[in-house]
Amino acid sequence: MIPFLDLKKINREYREELLEACSRVIDSGWYIGGNECRDFEKEFATYCGVDRAIGVGNGLDALTLIFRAYIEMNIINKGDEVIVPANTYIASILSITENDLVPILVEPNIETLNIDIDKIEEAITDKTKAILVVHLYGQAVEMKRVLEIAKRYNLKVIEDSAQAHGAIDNTLNRRVGGLGDASGFSFYPGKNLGAIGDGGAVTTDDMKLANTIEALKNYGSHKKYENLYKGVNSRLDEIQSAILRVKLKYLDLEIAKREEIAKNYLENITNNNILLPKRINGTVWHLFVIRSKNRDRLQNYLLERGIQTLIHYPIAPHKQRAYQEWNGRELPITEKIHNEILSLPISGVQSQEDTYTIVKAINDFN
Ligand SMILES: *Cc1c(COP(=O)(O)O)cnc(C)c1O
Repeated sequence: MIPFLDLKKINREYREELLEACSRVIDSGWYIGGNECRDFEKEFATYCGVDRAIGVGNGLDALTLIFRAYIEMNIINKGDEVIVPANTYIASILSITENDLVPILVEPNIETLNIDIDKIEEAITDKTKAILVVHLYGQAVEMKRVLEIAKRYNLKVIEDSAQAHGAIDNTLNRRVGGLGDASGFSFYPGKNLGAIGDGGAVTTDDMKLANTIEALKNYGSHKKYENLYKGVNSRLDEIQSAILRVKLKYLDLEIAKREEIAKNYLENITNNNILLPKRINGTVWHLFVIRSKNRDRLQNYLLERGIQTLIHYPIAPHKQRAYQEWNGRELPITEKIHNEILSLPISGVQSQEDTYTIVKAINDFN
């Protein structure tokens, strides 16, 4: 069986260093809000090319806290609209509705599968305050054009970088996380930079925003026992921070290994009934997403040959029960994508032999 993602094998590569990191934390007696988190924040900020990184509990919190901070800063008000791609993971949208803001779903571009930049402007109204871009599947959104639109309409630009640690946007020649006003990252174990548990971070160059989030994630307190806001508790603990410091050192190596596999897929999958992903902008191949009109049959066929695949994602956000108010809406491109996509296995520990087996199986599918 070729697993979709072998986390055990991935973390075993760094076992000695990860254990050393855990021992260091255990022996320090300091488990929350210490040097490991501070050092990781500095190292991750440097990696992303930003002034500040703030560790939080998970990726959803990272995004939610950005909007919450803008509300506390009176830059965004409850009821305001936020433009977001209709083709995304539900967390992007939850971060908006959690703050009583209104998501305006914009169809994706069928080539990039990211937000269709040509459709952003027509979605802007008097109530629009921000654009939440999602660098989905690891491919960076072409940010130059997004920033131009945002500037013209005085909108904040927030990045959901949960799937794209290290991806470079070729239109600005910068890494994701530093392309807009603020960015949310997830360190969920299956992400390209994954912890051994939950974790997330906000990155930004905006000091005021960073300080507001620092307080909000800490019960709304900037100073012990003094509370400015009705905040939350969302922490990146010392063990996860120490683990992430180890794995951050190898992130570029992991990305390079994924690139090898993606190249192999792109060059050697020749089945005309399969649509391969297009590399329009810089990508870290968090997911390698192919499309087929016979997706479900293809998935079963691959499984019969011992190849595990997944669907990211099977139900579009506007078709979810949680967002019943949107269930009647038609977003044909988003729906088409959800019906056709299939994610192939890809990771730093996948052998060439396994990649070959997958390529051959797909080429033999008809
Ligand atoms: C994983 C993910 C999130 C949420 O991150 P968690 O750490 O699981 O909360 C948000 N957005 C996208 C696009 C994701 O893939």
